[in-house]
Amino acid sequence: MSDSILESIERESKSIKDKGVIPHLVVIYIGDNPQIDSYVRKKREACERVGFKFTLDRFSSTVQQDQIIKRIQYHSQDTSVSGIILQLPLPEQLDSQSLIQAISPLKDVDGLNPLNLAQIFMGKKSMFVPCTPDGILELLRQYGFKVEGSNVVVLGRSNLVGRTIATLLSQKNLSNQSIQGGATVSLIHRYSKNTKPALKAADLIISATGQGGLIKKDDIKEGAVLIDVGISYVKDESKKSGVRMVGDIDPEAYKKAMAYTPVPGGVGPLTVAMLLKNVLKAAHLQAKIFKPQQQQQEKEKSQQK
Ligand code: NAD
Repeated sequence: MSDSILESIERESKSIKDKGVIPHLVVIYIGDNPQIDSYVRKKREACERVGFKFTLDRFSSTVQQDQIIKRIQYHSQDTSVSGIILQLPLPEQLDSQSLIQAISPLKDVDGLNPLNLAQIFMGKKSMFVPCTPDGILELLRQYGFKVEGSNVVVLGRSNLVGRTIATLLSQKNLSNQSIQGGATVSLIHRYSKNTKPALKAADLIISATGQGGLIKKDDIKEGAVLIDVGISYVKDESKKSGVRMVGDIDPEAYKKAMAYTPVPGGVGPLTVAMLLKNVLKAAHLQAKIFKPQQQQQEKEKSQQK
């Protein structure tokens, strides 16, 4: 699915590229973490594959809030930039909420700016839906999962994943999406108690906790659909890196499931594809606001600097 989304993005971006606009993603990455390096690399590779420009703006883990704010403002004003993401998580001294708020809502391709998120929580059309929830909706749509009236359990309550997908699936009409909502959703988090009955009754389980192997075969009902977003690492001497990526769902549970997404290779690549879809959308939005010639002039100016 992620491959075919990338192929369609490449086709659909032809018209805007013909007008001289190259969709351009800027990733702001603070710190140094081999796992995050690999997520960033995947975003770069996907951009290269569809002919988008990719810029990595990297900072040491001791960088201060005002420096990042200035950088975000710079990219927000640069008309050659279509979309900006702040690679999460951030070092402790930084306040992610206020940094995300500094990203222009028109370039907020992760969909986490309060102006975009509020639209989702009010059941309105948002310019950008966060990429993982957006990918999950697309997955459910393409595989024909009937959301209306279903019992869904979401584990994890971040804006990035859990809270947003729980909100979307519980809404009746999902504006912007060619899928009906209307599920009964239980949102489970770190402090939830007595979660087994809800899990056992779930037609669909979406897990985004980062707690490897949290959901076992005995926790789910026969024929449930499992979407595993979680990523964590366990020791594995057979790997060059010494670690292996695992999801929140114990693979033994797959045997009981009607369908499942594996980790790695499931929601991850889909999230990247949906990100690029948002970058293309952002490029279109900005092309309506700024004329391509003006973008070209700005680009030349910034190259001269
Ligand atoms: P987060 O740390 O913001 O949220 C984790 C959530 O899990 C919290 O709400 C917490 O209450 C909940 N939680 C922790 N332990 C739990 C437990 N034992 N039972 C139930 N809930 C529990 O993380 P996030 O940004 O939402 O990401 C969640 C996971 O998904 C991480 O592993 C992250 O790496 C992964 N992720 C993957 C993709 C992808 O593309 N595959 C995208 C985003 C996030």
